[in-house]
Amino acid sequence: MSEILTPGEVKLRDGRSVGFANLDVAATAPCLRVVADAVADLLPYYGSVHRGAGALSERCTREYEQARETVADILGHGPDDTVIFTRNTTDAFNLLARAVPEGTTVVAFDAEHHANLLPWRDAVRVPAPRSPQEAIEALARVLHGLKGRNVLVSVTAASNVTGEVWPVAELAEVAHRHGARIAVDAAQLAPHAPGSLAGLGADYIAFSGHKLYAPFGAGVLAGRADWLDAAEPYLAGGGASAHVADDGTARWATGPARHEAGTPNLLGAVAIATALRALRDRDLATTEQALLRRLRAGLAALPHVEELRLFPADAERVGIVSFTVPGRDPGELAVTLGRDHGIGVRTGLFCAHPLTRRLLAEATGRLESGISEKSEKSRRGAPDFSQSAQAVRASFGIGTTEEHIDRLLAALQ
Ligand code: PMP
Repeated sequence: MSEILTPGEVKLRDGRSVGFANLDVAATAPCLRVVADAVADLLPYYGSVHRGAGALSERCTREYEQARETVADILGHGPDDTVIFTRNTTDAFNLLARAVPEGTTVVAFDAEHHANLLPWRDAVRVPAPRSPQEAIEALARVLHGLKGRNVLVSVTAASNVTGEVWPVAELAEVAHRHGARIAVDAAQLAPHAPGSLAGLGADYIAFSGHKLYAPFGAGVLAGRADWLDAAEPYLAGGGASAHVADDGTARWATGPARHEAGTPNLLGAVAIATALRALRDRDLATTEQALLRRLRAGLAALPHVEELRLFPADAERVGIVSFTVPGRDPGELAVTLGRDHGIGVRTGLFCAHPLTRRLLAEATGRLESGISEKSEKSRRGAPDFSQSAQAVRASFGIGTTEEHIDRLLAALQ
């Protein structure tokens, strides 16, 4: 029995059925069977959290708080840290952005996902570096220039566009050396290396359950409690209020409750904790890296296909590869892959518009110059490069097989 829940076979346009090749795991991962089982086991007891007496409420409150403890444990939390359950990574960064004290300068690289770009107003934007080492040096320079200011650096751990892994532990060291804090977007690292999150040295970590094989609508913002305890509640309402006077003024709770107003997402929290427990000690990398090598080698062998990358080709990465196929409308290509080959991919700019546009332009340029160096004949057969305004992304994880990769490569061929 597969350890993830899958639809099994899907019908193709020509009437044949094939096993679905889900190569869009970075957008939303399938559900781990242990996660579905944990949720199903809890459902008969489903009741209110923090809001009632009786067997159901007691059990649900206990499970919710145990889920919080599991996350804290896996993140290596100390007494000054807290775990807040959010809706997703986007929600987590919006919450953190509201909790950052007045006068704090936020520093973010241009390469970020919108979730870690748009919530920061007036951030100091650092141009996207061309290597992990360049990222470390650029951050050190920027922080040196901001000496004397309160600074929060916010950075991704792994790119959802290129899969490239950022040197977060080194960036955290640089940040701390300069008296700054660092927030880490672990949306794409958590599903590939959940056991590594504790070693990142991050002051704050954000990630989403639905990318971590735990698709029940919850995410996490975890990290140092002081800013969060001092901030206005993210949502005003029940649960966040310790006492409300007759005139409606509230004294707010401290701790995670302050930012979790309203009835919390019990199933989402339990799902995340179950997934983290199941995956923390697993070697996910060996299989994934072998699939990654297979896919990248296959793509490199295809003329008119070019991979998007910010860092050098041999940089460390997780199972995410974006590429351009000039001359083919990416949306139409994705539909063909789906209907004729049973493959799910993503196309677009992946909610990282500035980065993806730039990498697309570079990849297209590399292809164009490669082709112009060839014969007149191949130039005449060259694709229309004006159509490559969007990229195609293949991403994978638990449940992906060599056959899925080979099927994509054959279809692209
Ligand atoms: N950061 C990264 C790196 C992501 O890949 C994503 C999802 N594409 C997000 C943040 C936002 O996650 P969510 O949509 O779950 O809020």
